[in-house]
Amino acid sequence: MLRSSLLALAASARAKRLAGTMPGSSGIVSRFVAGETVDDAIRVARELSGAGLRVSLDHLGEGTLDRGQAESTVAAYLEALDALAEVDLTRDAELSIKLSAIGQALGGDGQAGRRGSEGHRVALDNAREVCLAARNAGTTVTLDMEDHTTTDSTLEVLTDLRQDFPETGAVLQSQLRRTEADCRDLASAGSRVRLCKGAYEEPASAAYRDQVEVDRSYVRCLKVLMNGAGYPMVATHDPRLVRIAGVLAERADRDPASYEFQMLYGVRPDEQLRLAASGSTVRVYVPYGDQWYGYLMRRLAERPANVAFFARSLVSRG
Ligand SMILES: Cc1cc2nc3c(=O)[nH]c(=O)nc-3n(C[C@H](O)[C@H](O)[C@H](O)COP(=O)(O)OP(=O)(O)OC[C@H]3O[C@@H](n4cnc5c(N)ncnc54)[C@H](O)[C@@H]3O)c2cc1C
Repeated sequence: MLRSSLLALAASARAKRLAGTMPGSSGIVSRFVAGETVDDAIRVARELSGAGLRVSLDHLGEGTLDRGQAESTVAAYLEALDALAEVDLTRDAELSIKLSAIGQALGGDGQAGRRGSEGHRVALDNAREVCLAARNAGTTVTLDMEDHTTTDSTLEVLTDLRQDFPETGAVLQSQLRRTEADCRDLASAGSRVRLCKGAYEEPASAAYRDQVEVDRSYVRCLKVLMNGAGYPMVATHDPRLVRIAGVLAERADRDPASYEFQMLYGVRPDEQLRLAASGSTVRVYVPYGDQWYGYLMRRLAERPANVAFFARSLVSRG
């Protein structure tokens, strides 16, 4: 119930305007977000890399209907790549991109960014530009997955992008009923696939609504990915699923370098270090920028204990 309300708030323009007056450096925001500038992102990336962790930088923003805004996001990613190269971090840090931040929703022609639509063309062109710069800098890009209405469109852009940039990573969400089949399609050699539970409120027609079902689906999907030829990226903070991933990797005779764990910045940092110290590859997803509202709301929905803290920081600003 609370999760649904928070996810509804995540999509509310009015709540977003209210929260938007709060600096990204304050309290609860700074726990989950590196800061508002690329310098903040680089500072955090250096700290994590110094501690033996890898990084995926996410320039916050989503759902733009403005072409200029989509181009600014591309420019922000190019700036981040330059900044990473300058401090020699492109081996340890890659980029995560939401297609809806770089044009997928443009056109509004009812095709939701499907092949042939303006959204598909613009998002693909923009993603190509970032992938090329990433490759030249010696790193890679992963396409984040958003709500289920964008899954087909995102996988179509991924397929087209992988013609030229096969190293581009995908994200699949175990809460969606379709995902086990998508895992089978994507578990091929060279294919990097991040498996997460899914952060969006979805209808029962498309998704498992019961957490136990979501977790069971996660394990089924993990089995497919670990037994496949690709590179699984196990994105969860769930101790049980982390343990199961380790067991499945061992059973599949996987070398620790042939898959990785991923966690979010600010969530279970001790566990991130513990896993890395035990020889696993661990990547931390580091968001930065001033468009933190939707991202933060999804984090609160996962851990309602933080809601009161967030509410107090809003109220104390009057
Ligand atoms: C690297 C990464 C990238 C992601 N990318 C996407 C994406 O592209 N699209 C998308 O929809 N979602 C994405 N997500 C979010 C994901 O879908 C989940 O919403 C989020 O990770 C929470 O699910 P969970 O697997 O951690 O388990 P949950 O069910 O939230 O938590 C399970 C258990 O983990 C532990 N735990 C969780 N949080 C905490 C905490 N703060 N402190 C201590 N213990 C905790 C607790 O034991 C809890 O019971 C991503 C997640 C990660 C880690």
